[in-house]
Amino acid sequence: MLRVEAVEKSFDDFKAVNGANLVVGKGELVAVIGPNGAGKTTLFNLITGQLKPDEGRITFKGEDIGGLPPYEICKKGIARSFQIVNIFPRLTVFENVQVAVLSQQRKSSELLHPAHNIAVEETEVILESVGLSGKALEVAGSLSHGDQKILEIAIALGNEPELLILDEPTAGMSPEETSATMELIKRLADTRGLTILFCEHDMEVVFSVAQSIMVMHQGRTLVQAEPQEVRRNKEVQEAYLGGE
Ligand code: ADP
Ligand code: MG
Repeated sequence: MLRVEAVEKSFDDFKAVNGANLVVGKGELVAVIGPNGAGKTTLFNLITGQLKPDEGRITFKGEDIGGLPPYEICKKGIARSFQIVNIFPRLTVFENVQVAVLSQQRKSSELLHPAHNIAVEETEVILESVGLSGKALEVAGSLSHGDQKILEIAIALGNEPELLILDEPTAGMSPEETSATMELIKRLADTRGLTILFCEHDMEVVFSVAQSIMVMHQGRTLVQAEPQEVRRNKEVQEAYLGGE
């Protein structure tokens, strides 16, 4: 579904991404791991169009998407969440997701009318699937950090993506929230048949859920393989044990 080949991106003289390779098959749950500064967020920004690659190719369903603007890439079926929470804090939880559903249905102009009954069912289904139904009418800005991160996933689901990209979905969460969130991600992949790509700096968090793990180090892909193989990989062990 997604293929990243020899992608590079520099900021001035600094190569933040310096040879990234990644393959994500349909229905797979794939993790990108690597220490802080490895280039994970930059790679995601390249895939979703926030940044343009200097070199290399990015294809989605066989089509070259490298350098397209974010809204074009979103229309093609890729939605994402951000490492730093990105929600409408003054809208309710329900409204946050409803806006995404409506924009997907290209009815966002209807938001200007007092038609609060549009896209209600779709929105409720999404809130239910992430476990936020009970908080639908709360103001988003008043949610706990963990719930705000989950809400961001719900907003991304409102775009009905085929590929969902999550940048550190468990950042800042307690160990309990982290394992609940990883369970949620796994469940979404299973029940919605979604393809999910996410990144993490904590290796242990991903080993139980990811089917395939790509390891980034200093902007470069060290390896992409099944969890067991990644664990045994010498270069990965050195990169992690050799300090950041
Ligand atoms: P990660 O998400 O793996 O922690 P990032 O992709 O955020 O890593 O960052 C990779 C490197 O690129 C870091 O050294 C970071 O400081 C640098 N970097 C990221 N974005 C920019 C930018 N807009 N301008 C300059 N340097 C950047
Ligand atoms: Mg990051």
